[in-house]
Amino acid sequence: MRRSLVVANWKMNGSETFNQVFVESLLPKIDEVNVDVVICPPFVYLSQVDELLDNSDVQLGAQNCAVEVNGAFTGEVSATMLRDCGVRYVIVGHSERRGLYGESDELVAAKLAAVKAEHLTAILCVGETLEDRDAGRVLEVIGHQLQAVANMLGRDAFNDIVVSYEPVWAIGTGLTATPEQVEEVHRMIRQFVSDHGGAECAAKLQILYGGSVNANNAATLLAQENIDGALVGGASLKADDFAVICKSVG
Ligand code: PEP
Repeated sequence: MRRSLVVANWKMNGSETFNQVFVESLLPKIDEVNVDVVICPPFVYLSQVDELLDNSDVQLGAQNCAVEVNGAFTGEVSATMLRDCGVRYVIVGHSERRGLYGESDELVAAKLAAVKAEHLTAILCVGETLEDRDAGRVLEVIGHQLQAVANMLGRDAFNDIVVSYEPVWAIGTGLTATPEQVEEVHRMIRQFVSDHGGAECAAKLQILYGGSVNANNAATLLAQENIDGALVGGASLKADDFAVICKSVG
């Protein structure tokens, strides 16, 4: 019922040459896959990658956006501008933005509202630190991250968005959450969304997992009932590995 989605988060990686070689290598490898694929390069390469993806089903995504539409906000890029560049998906609340750049739950919610206002699809990242997990606070922390979005956007908050569960301790570390750990959190996210926005909204919500997904572990993770796809960092920089991940969707 829910389509699967695999998202490449290139973070601050890429170059004009890398981008071209990567896309030209990837596209023939995923020609037949029955899964939605999104590539999120750095802002400055969006237009180049958009052109490279022309005539393919792969969609363009961005890694962040501003809350505002335009004005005196030096260095910021708005959702309106992203739409102009051909972007369809925007990641908000990645743990590197929350942790390294101090983005609060409330700021992330405001960014999500800005993305929705442009009719783009937000990929809302939520997840706990190892300290939170060890202290038994996983559901509390994620509940707070979701509640901030619910407070700002009301009953329709989770309509037409994607949620990605990304335990901070599993990002870029080589540590992967077990399928059971992921399923538990994904079920909790779906329950939260059902309580907030109704069963229909919850049933259609795509919930991705992110955290050291690679060509070897993707198939096991993606076979779980409530894991609707993956947000991939490191392994999305190798076209061969990323293609294997896309093909792992059952
Ligand atoms: C990410 O950046 O969202 C991510 C999951 O990274 P990695 O796959 O490298 O852990």
